[in-house]
Amino acid sequence: MGILSKRVIDLPESATLAMATKARELNSKGIDIINLSIGEPDFSTPDFIKKSAIESINQNYNGYTPVDGYLELREAICHKLLRDNQLNYAPNQIVVSTGAKQCIANIMIALLDPGDQVLLPCPYWVSYSAMSTLNQANWELIPSSIDSGYKISADDLSKQITSKSKVIIFNSPNNPSGAVYSKEEFQKISKVLIENSHLYIISDEIYEHINYGVPHFSLASVPELAHRTIVVNGLSKAFAMTGWRLGYMAGPVEIVAACKKIQGQFTSGTNCIAQRAAITALLQPPSEIQYMVQAFQKRRDYLIELLSSIPGFKIIKPEGAFYLFPDISDYYGTKIKGKTLNNSQDMAMLLLEHAHVATVSGLPFGQDNSLRLSYAASEEKLEKAVKNISEILK
Ligand code: PMP
Ligand code: GLU
Repeated sequence: MGILSKRVIDLPESATLAMATKARELNSKGIDIINLSIGEPDFSTPDFIKKSAIESINQNYNGYTPVDGYLELREAICHKLLRDNQLNYAPNQIVVSTGAKQCIANIMIALLDPGDQVLLPCPYWVSYSAMSTLNQANWELIPSSIDSGYKISADDLSKQITSKSKVIIFNSPNNPSGAVYSKEEFQKISKVLIENSHLYIISDEIYEHINYGVPHFSLASVPELAHRTIVVNGLSKAFAMTGWRLGYMAGPVEIVAACKKIQGQFTSGTNCIAQRAAITALLQPPSEIQYMVQAFQKRRDYLIELLSSIPGFKIIKPEGAFYLFPDISDYYGTKIKGKTLNNSQDMAMLLLEHAHVATVSGLPFGQDNSLRLSYAASEEKLEKAVKNISEILK
């Protein structure tokens, strides 16, 4: 019998966090790495949220909270879901967790038995497959390509569904591609989901507000799907609060109660100060954070313009999130700095070591032809990064 469980041995390290760690380590050794790896807003948390957190400390919020979060916060989340998404939930249909990441982990534990199948429209966020592995579920990719705008169609979906399929995870706006499904696209996909009543849908909407034009559409607003859709959202991206660790889920009472039970055994209710601040954040209209969205949009356009000078970087303009996901496969088979580039990992390592730019390879997102660059960074950093990259790839 080995020390570690098979599930943990099979579990890969988070590729996004691994690259961010590598960049930090190199920076601490005095090598100036431009970090376009981790997806994290580079803004400060807005002042009105910070003020609310400070007030709550002074008001002596310090004790354990209800496992599913303060009632006042769950009411604020219901208010937000109705205001922004026209979704009607009651506070007993909400669980607040330590980031959207924990929400997804709770849901996967609640729904999956060993051997169940998880469907992942490709490209997908790295932790979905890892969490499936941890639950001994099998994950299957539903492929897409740059030609389909990194989105799957209803046909692509119906081809992959089997009797073992239990969960499908949609993420729009998408990490890593930035693709946003329109209402019409989701309505076509919904028809297939409605026909397959054994499927549960996780709708990861963490980038909801980082959207540059295609109106956000939640699959939970399709009436026939509401009873088997779980919405996941959080404060990390929209409010520049990644380190505060606050996410939430909304869904059918039975699944929500199971997630609450799981969380009660694992971590209890999340941080009390972050919860008080989240009430303030969610009661404000999304217009309060538009200045960050506008800045991201400007940087997106700037980075696309800069990268257009590098041959072999095929890009589609993303409608949301803060990532570019260029197809760089034209470089595969070429030799640069004494090494033949065979895949996206080779490209990411070349750029880290020789251009001092940290990116994330497409492979752990299910697209080995691509590379992810986060543009949640200043224009100066983006400029320098592209200059370095273009010198290496010349
Ligand atoms: N979903 C997606 C698609 C993400 O990119 C992330 C990374 N922040 C999360 C969920 C988790 O977010 P957090 O745990 O910070 O709320
Ligand atoms: N979600 C962000 C990313 O993809 C943060 C890191 C993580 O949790 O994966 O970079």
